[in-house]
Amino acid sequence: MQPELILDARADLGEGPAWDASRGLLYWVDIHTGRLHTFDPSEEIDRWVHVGESLGCLAPRPVSLQTPGISLVIALNRGFMTFNLPSERMVFLANPEPHLTRNRFNDGKCDPAGRFLAGTMDDAEKEASGSLYSYSPDGTLKTLLTGVRISNGLTWSPDYQTFYYIDTPTRQVTAFDYDLGTGNIANPRPVVNVPPKLGWPDGMTSDAEGMLWVAMWGGAKLTRWNPATGQLLEAIPVPAMNVTSCVFGGPDLTDLYITSARKRMSAEQLAKYPLSGGLFRIRTKMRGMPTFEFGA
Ligand code: CA
Repeated sequence: MQPELILDARADLGEGPAWDASRGLLYWVDIHTGRLHTFDPSEEIDRWVHVGESLGCLAPRPVSLQTPGISLVIALNRGFMTFNLPSERMVFLANPEPHLTRNRFNDGKCDPAGRFLAGTMDDAEKEASGSLYSYSPDGTLKTLLTGVRISNGLTWSPDYQTFYYIDTPTRQVTAFDYDLGTGNIANPRPVVNVPPKLGWPDGMTSDAEGMLWVAMWGGAKLTRWNPATGQLLEAIPVPAMNVTSCVFGGPDLTDLYITSARKRMSAEQLAKYPLSGGLFRIRTKMRGMPTFEFGA
């Protein structure tokens, strides 16, 4: 399994890949520049728009007659909004952190019941001021976790009864019991410990076998782990120093799309990893966890 470069995007902080199965599109974000990208694999064309401020993450919304074109939910400093393309129309949903000005939104995605989960972090990466939120389509906003330093990867087990979560500086993947009916989490326990030589655990997804795919910031790798044993199953080199996140996409959900970043890299590091900030793809033989839609 070798990653191929599909877009030499040179993103500052490419993140948050999400696969829209009904439209056959890959969305991803460049967080600090506030760029929302739409990559069409059938034409290999990437388009982007500015959302006006830092953009943490997004999730697709179902196709409907009321919202022709692309419809998303996005997490901005101003809170959660719906966002449509090509109109670029935004509608406010909720703001979990009107009181915190030094935080920004980071990784997020929808759960299998259509709730939007998104985390925050201190943009200066100093304080444990981050939280993880869950926003239901009915308007209910819950705080799932507080005291988080860098809220990052999240995914579920194939039976949706376990939620996996990464607060990057812990170097761990933590599992929780997940109640799909209420969206509540309980019983945290570490299931993966990442050795420093691999890098920092960042974004995450899972596959049909229940294994975890974790992007390694600073490690130029994508890794696959067994959460039942904590065992590292695979470490796949990616030609980008900071590998940020991954998602399964394509018609069979077997194409693994990978984002990366080039922020804060030295000239020497950029010379070693010139493709940093690019978008990559691995054609796997495994079926992955779908990207769930908001309100689905
Ligand atoms: Ca991340």
